[in-house]
Amino acid sequence: MLLETLLSFLRAHLLRFVCLLACCGGAGLPLCAQVPNLTPGSKVAEAEVQRRGAAAFFGVEELPDSIVRLMRGCTWRPGCPVPLARLRYLRCLHRNAEGEAVVGEMVVNAQIATEVAAILRTLFDSGYPIERMVLADRYGADDERSMRANNSSGFNYRTIAGTRRTSKHALGLAIDINPLYNPCVKRGRDGKQHVQPATATRYADRSRRFPYTLQPGDLCCRLFQKQGFQWGGSWKRTKDYQHFER
Ligand SMILES: [Zn+2]
Repeated sequence: MLLETLLSFLRAHLLRFVCLLACCGGAGLPLCAQVPNLTPGSKVAEAEVQRRGAAAFFGVEELPDSIVRLMRGCTWRPGCPVPLARLRYLRCLHRNAEGEAVVGEMVVNAQIATEVAAILRTLFDSGYPIERMVLADRYGADDERSMRANNSSGFNYRTIAGTRRTSKHALGLAIDINPLYNPCVKRGRDGKQHVQPATATRYADRSRRFPYTLQPGDLCCRLFQKQGFQWGGSWKRTKDYQHFER
């Protein structure tokens, strides 16, 4: 009787178990998203979100082959300090400023994948606005282009803009949120203010209010900081308002 119950439970959850085995890869938690083949950046009707439940759209996986093909020679190149096997592909939903559900994707280090997925889920559930979240590869790994498009992203094997130092993004341990409205602002040796992306000068004045602004103590900052991330907006010299790293 017990065996029968166990077998019927296993049958009922077989897909889920297979998926779990395929996805975990030793990272701990997560499951494949149950709706895996959505186009990043596309919208999902609210009725569909309600029907399937938001959880069905969220997942953490080893990098699918198609994503590895996309990343090789783009955000990931030989010499990268983190191997592809240590990176994870996150599928998620996020809400834009109009409150619509949008399909998002992100690559981060396996070390933080579960926490980042949980943060993204809370942001979605809370209606926190994020305009776009696709891989930097879809902008040719060009961070400036990706930022100008207000694209939130994680992994990218690159140096810190304007320096030769490797960025935490190259380890998959940093995430940028709504980067156009939350630029990186620094004062150069010439005393001049430098803003990245270059099109975000008007958003460097943090006393102004505009959509997608990251402010100290807002939900996004609180969630990342609770998981041990530093917020670049609290740094002393360079103010990297879009940036969270661990
Ligand atoms: Zn960053």
